[in-house]
Amino acid sequence: MGMAKRQMMEREEQLQWATGLLIEAGAASECENHGYVVDELDGGAAEEAAAQAAANPPKGLSATEAADLVREALTLIGYECPGCAKNAADD
Ligand SMILES: [Zn+2]
Repeated sequence: MGMAKRQMMEREEQLQWATGLLIEAGAASECENHGYVVDELDGGAAEEAAAQAAANPPKGLSATEAADLVREALTLIGYECPGCAKNAADD
């Protein structure tokens, strides 16, 4: 190993981790048919996920940063599965 790699997760991994917390809390879910993550529009569940993140932040992130990461991940999630939307449009 050369330079000591910082123990910070890569951005993409961080967002995946945050998305996982959102799914666990019920703030988001994966489409059974297509696997896309969809926003469940449950603000309470989203805050629960953010609280979970703050209570157990990944290495390299503060509690606040971890909670913000969860809120950011939620903004990246669509309200509708693109696969399901396409099927509906094809009907
Ligand atoms: Zn779908």
